[in-house]
Amino acid sequence: MSHTPGQGNDGDVVTSNIAERLQLIKQLVNDSAQQSGRDPATVRLVAVSKRKPISLIREAYQAGQRDFGENYSQELLNKAEQLADLADIRWHHIGHLQRNKVKGIIGSAQLLHAVDREALVHELDKRGQTLGVSSEVLLQINLAGEQSKSGCPPEQLSALLDLACSCEGLRVIGLMAIPPATKRPEDARPYFRQLRMLREAHGGAERLPELSMGMSQDFAIAIEEGATIVRVGSAIFGPRE
Ligand SMILES: *Cc1c(COP(=O)(O)O)cnc(C)c1O
Repeated sequence: MSHTPGQGNDGDVVTSNIAERLQLIKQLVNDSAQQSGRDPATVRLVAVSKRKPISLIREAYQAGQRDFGENYSQELLNKAEQLADLADIRWHHIGHLQRNKVKGIIGSAQLLHAVDREALVHELDKRGQTLGVSSEVLLQINLAGEQSKSGCPPEQLSALLDLACSCEGLRVIGLMAIPPATKRPEDARPYFRQLRMLREAHGGAERLPELSMGMSQDFAIAIEEGATIVRVGSAIFGPRE
């Protein structure tokens, strides 16, 4: 990210520019939305706080941020507990979700971004029904067939979607993808487009209103291609160790 506002003296505390960075990212989100003829209010910014301390999350919250993303179930639960005083904070589980973590996570996360297989759908349904909740989920798609990544293969989406839609314990509201890493943001565009086309082929925006795609490097491109949720970490919180 070439934008690093608020660069201070060496003596500045590390946390001093979170609010400025957030404001900048929000501005860029709004600009991309407007440039592509979309209402900026249709794009939600999730601040990815994985491996970042509670103090920085509080700082972002104080700057008005409400949606936060975490990859690891236990880290999300720990942070949610430590930040329980922030009543309207919303947690997004954006990483691979293990079946044995479902029970703990469904009451704590507002949206599960990475539901990608039948066994997980069954578990979410079972636990959801027991607790009397219907979790909102996104189905994660492995667009490029990368072995290193989880996600449902595009050709299996239809079956997974039909199964999930038949379950009372969860509600599918869209699709999510993490495209292969690309050198230039522009190179991610075909993948974002592919996710949007996949949505078109499976009921369109009426059935699947949300598209979670785009990260620090390429969220502007993702918005141009229809992202309704962008997941931005390092551009807000700085690089991760
Ligand atoms: C870490 C992560 C992000 C944020 O990545 P940045 O490049 O730091 O913005 C977004 N989505 C997922 C699934 C991640 O794991």
